[in-house]
Amino acid sequence: MRIVIVRRISQVFFLALLVWFCIVANFGTEWWQLRGWPINLILQLDPLVAIGTLLTTHTLYAGLAWALVTIIVTIIFGRIFCGWVCPFGTLHQFFGWLGQLPRNHKQKIEANRFRRAQVIKYYILLVFLGMMLWPWGRDRILQSGLLDPIPFIHRSVNMAVLPAVEMLLGKSLSTAPRQYEGGWVLGALFFATIFANFYIPRFYCRFLCPLGALLGLFARISLFRIAKNARKCTDCTLCEPACEGACDPAGSIRISECLMCFNCLDDACTKKFLEYRIRESDGGEVKLPPDLRRRGVLASLGASLLAVPMMRLNGSVHTNTNPLLVRPPGSLPEPEFLQRCIKCGECMRVCPTNVLMPAGLDRGFEALWTPVLNFRIGTSGCMPNCVACGHVCPTAAIRPLTVEEKRGVGQYAEQGPIRIGTAFVDRSRCLPWALDTPCIVCEEVCPVTPKAIFVREEYQIIREGVFHVETIRGREVILKNAKLPVGRYATGDYFLAPLDQREARLQITNQTTNSLILAGEPAQWGEAQRVAILVRLQRPHVEPNLCIGCGICEHDCPVSGLRAIRVTAENESRNPASALRLAERSLKL
Ligand code: SF4
Ligand code: SF4
Ligand code: SF4
Repeated sequence: MRIVIVRRISQVFFLALLVWFCIVANFGTEWWQLRGWPINLILQLDPLVAIGTLLTTHTLYAGLAWALVTIIVTIIFGRIFCGWVCPFGTLHQFFGWLGQLPRNHKQKIEANRFRRAQVIKYYILLVFLGMMLWPWGRDRILQSGLLDPIPFIHRSVNMAVLPAVEMLLGKSLSTAPRQYEGGWVLGALFFATIFANFYIPRFYCRFLCPLGALLGLFARISLFRIAKNARKCTDCTLCEPACEGACDPAGSIRISECLMCFNCLDDACTKKFLEYRIRESDGGEVKLPPDLRRRGVLASLGASLLAVPMMRLNGSVHTNTNPLLVRPPGSLPEPEFLQRCIKCGECMRVCPTNVLMPAGLDRGFEALWTPVLNFRIGTSGCMPNCVACGHVCPTAAIRPLTVEEKRGVGQYAEQGPIRIGTAFVDRSRCLPWALDTPCIVCEEVCPVTPKAIFVREEYQIIREGVFHVETIRGREVILKNAKLPVGRYATGDYFLAPLDQREARLQITNQTTNSLILAGEPAQWGEAQRVAILVRLQRPHVEPNLCIGCGICEHDCPVSGLRAIRVTAENESRNPASALRLAERSLKL
């Protein structure tokens, strides 16, 4: 079989595998749901993920050792990963091919020629590496996930493409419909990179891809390389429009740009004057990444040194941590979390309640597209028995917890449950507090034992609820000039009492527009002339030492829009600096 056919089969396989892994990343008992599928395999093969986390944390999370395979393969065979494996590259190649179809040979050569701007990706890589190597203290930053194609395509498929497909199908591919805050931005960026291929084939790979640049650096010393046989080559340029890397196979081949697509060798050069061999091309080789200038390198490293403090210029210093950054259970303390999170969206895809969202710029640039909890979207809060996100995170930015550890039972009883934040009642919006309307939803749904939300009972006279009694007949009290709303007071939460003797109240069990039926006979009220309708209010309070911040109360609170009970990051277990009271923070710091 021809090698380009084998390459195409490999590309389709890895693209399908990626989409499949994104689809199966959900809970259920079917064979196509999470059943030991290695859903992070392609992320683990990505050397930029491994090198990035290694440089920022000085540790290598076990699964990422697979990236060594990619590095070794690149050093032996060249950028096979780009040409044969990378699913993002496959998409670019396909759309680049589509874009070339209407062009004639000359136009194809023009669209596919090497451009000096291809050097940009090396500078992008240097900026990311500079941030990873930031020499002062522990402030190194991992931002390569913004442009690294493997997290990029995972993020896009997880949070934009699949939700859009689900919307079109009118059917969920997961346990529940998925929606992500800012998903349209991720979708727009994804499709922008795809459409760029109609202008220049493999636009992203050639100009923007930091992983391609990294592999290009390894490929320049690769054992095998594409080479032309100068004695036979007639300079027909048939190979030029076919070349995926725009690396001039007919001239001095730019070896670090070659994607090992083998189009030139197997598809274009009908006379087979190109070879894949150990000896370098007879036309010569450009070994260094093209046009990489010392000035550009220094400028990139300088930019990375500036970028670190710039990214942190968001006012979140000392005790002013962002209370809206409620992280998934098991997340490392914020600086270490940011040094590991590659913004791949795997945790957000797997979360069964869809409570995990990609953070927007309002949480700081550094945190962009990292997972935060938004309790108003999705089907509930963070489930007490779920530890899924930590088990799919490829870099252990979220630790893989056991359910026992998360709940603080068994051997973890002494350390207590993992807290991700604390719920606070907003008394200006809460129904019993602000509107004298009975509600105990948050207390009822609080999943911890004993409950972190408790209520204090109070009886309040409702507005315009004082009446003169006209007559009393058994359990029925007829009120003078009353026009009571039908059915309002027969819910079990309303009582009638003499105005000056409220403790003698009796529950209202039925009503008409001017009379009330009570649960008992009001004989003992004596000659009560004035009575009042009382409402029983069970006003919620939160016990911070018991609250784990799961947010189920916030999700279920019936006050629409901004909920009347909301979870913020205070008291989260991972960070002593988030202690509820500032005084406690400074003691612990
Ligand atoms: S532990 Fe909570 S945040 Fe993580 S996946 Fe489960 S429900 Fe979602
Ligand atoms: S925390 Fe989520 S987005 Fe970040 S690396 Fe882990 S799985 Fe990916
Ligand atoms: S659910 Fe909302 S409105 Fe109801 S008591 Fe709790 S905070 Fe108040």
